[in-house]
Amino acid sequence: MAGNWKMFKTAQQTRDYFQRFLPLVANVSNREIVVCPPFPCLAAAVEASAGSKTGIGGQNVYWVSEGAYTGEVSAPMLVDVGCRWVIVGHSERRQYFHETDDNVRKRTEAALEAGLTPIVCVGETLEQRESGRTGDVLEAQFHGGLRGLNPEQFAALTIAYEPVWAIGTGKTATPEMAEEAHRLIRALAESHYGAPAASSLRILYGGSVKPENCASLMAKADIDGVLVGGASLDPQGFAAIVNC
Ligand code: PEP
Repeated sequence: MAGNWKMFKTAQQTRDYFQRFLPLVANVSNREIVVCPPFPCLAAAVEASAGSKTGIGGQNVYWVSEGAYTGEVSAPMLVDVGCRWVIVGHSERRQYFHETDDNVRKRTEAALEAGLTPIVCVGETLEQRESGRTGDVLEAQFHGGLRGLNPEQFAALTIAYEPVWAIGTGKTATPEMAEEAHRLIRALAESHYGAPAASSLRILYGGSVKPENCASLMAKADIDGVLVGGASLDPQGFAAIVNC
């Protein structure tokens, strides 16, 4: 159950959030919880969540460890601050910052190399869905973004299916639509890495998940968790989702 705060909250707001959030999820035992704040809040989030079951993740990562890359943050730097997770290839990164499948692959490899768990995002636009190209898009993103990973690397990552038209729009894919896409992703995993790897792959759904629609999504066989944007900003709302 992962929360993506996008570009919201200050360090003080981060501390306040965890003070309210952690007691509400203290009894969760069968789910992993991840919160991904903006870079300047990571240290506060790691400190505020220390000793809890909630892990902290970055929202992006560059593929070089260090160097003259102004504005970028590397995987070893995320590990150093206390992150265990990182979102890679979010559609907002692809849309506004021109990230490609090729650099999604480099980011994923760098994250794995540093010991982070990448949450690799894939998903189609509305136009792609309406023209019947969802399957082709997911396949191209799967191949392009994960090409060349060995079975051990593949086993260490998580995939998030996030239809672009459902992100931040209030429009959720129906559980059936999401399940169909998740099944397709799992079939791609099976054809490349075999049945055991495919069945243990965790595939999260993301796109306007709220406390009210979480349970019906999570009831589907191939939906293993959720990646939550807007609704993760409220500690009570995200706790309700984690507990759904
Ligand atoms: C996201 O940012 O990954 C996301 C799914 O956003 P929202 O839940 O706001 O649609």
